[in-house]
Amino acid sequence: MMVGIMSPRAFAHRVALLTFLLLPTAPPLLSARTVAPAPGISRALIVSIDGLRPDLLLRANAPVIHKLMEQGSFTMWARTTDLAVTLPSHTSMLTGVRPSKHGVIWNTNLPPGRQVYPAWPTLFEVARQRGFTTAMVAGKSKFSTLAKPGTLSWSFVPTETVISDKAVADTASLWIRSYAPRVLFVHLPEVDIAGHSKGWGSPAQLAAIAAADRCVGQILESLRDGGVLDSTVVLITADHGGAGLSHGPDDVRSREIPWIISGPGICRNYDLTLNQDLEVRTEDTFATICYLLGITPPKPIDGRPVTQILCAHAR
Ligand SMILES: [Zn+2]
Repeated sequence: MMVGIMSPRAFAHRVALLTFLLLPTAPPLLSARTVAPAPGISRALIVSIDGLRPDLLLRANAPVIHKLMEQGSFTMWARTTDLAVTLPSHTSMLTGVRPSKHGVIWNTNLPPGRQVYPAWPTLFEVARQRGFTTAMVAGKSKFSTLAKPGTLSWSFVPTETVISDKAVADTASLWIRSYAPRVLFVHLPEVDIAGHSKGWGSPAQLAAIAAADRCVGQILESLRDGGVLDSTVVLITADHGGAGLSHGPDDVRSREIPWIISGPGICRNYDLTLNQDLEVRTEDTFATICYLLGITPPKPIDGRPVTQILCAHAR
């Protein structure tokens, strides 16, 4: 359903106020174990474009993301959870386990004062335990489920149901310039909104993909300006696709998602489907980012690091 989106100007004002209120809280714990990190990678940026179906990404005017494919490794056949809806799938993306384990099987806002967090630690939690600064900029209010207190150095989750991609990108850029968080998750909501309103594959949704691509470009530019792009692994993905005006289980058009990763040591222009037995799942996002940052997850996970992205392993 289409809902009202806050104007970027009003949102920027809100962020300016909130930024002072969202400084780091609890000091990092030191319990997670360390493994050797991938050389040259010390930061991670994950951008999830809500509802981005892979074939539409390829068809849209999206030069920034298409260039990331040239610069990195990718598959247009990654797979999200069998629920294929926003909150359970993002929770799997950021915990490395299936919904039956993390327990977030709802896709709505919980009542005030009754917030429930995933039963498995998020990327934010394990990264903070290793001393990384962490940040999330989400475009939908239901992401409060992923903002467990003490796990995020900086967090913005709107009180409105949804805000604009531009407002999200402006906040991410502001925080990159101000704090340069070492683990940053950005959620762009409007491609999904366009799908529910006008249809998956509609001209309106293709235009939304083009706009999301410009937001990704803006965020990358902020990393470049801050001098940290060359040490950042960048992963572009989605939580589900869709067809008609909706998405959900038992539909391949909802299950398949793009998975594009680039950074130091990662193979360039490398199609991961060259590995016949490799099926990238959304849980692998958590596993791969942990692997690249040298973080050993404290609990067993379903996801596996996609080591085929590293040149030494891929050829
Ligand atoms: Zn979604």
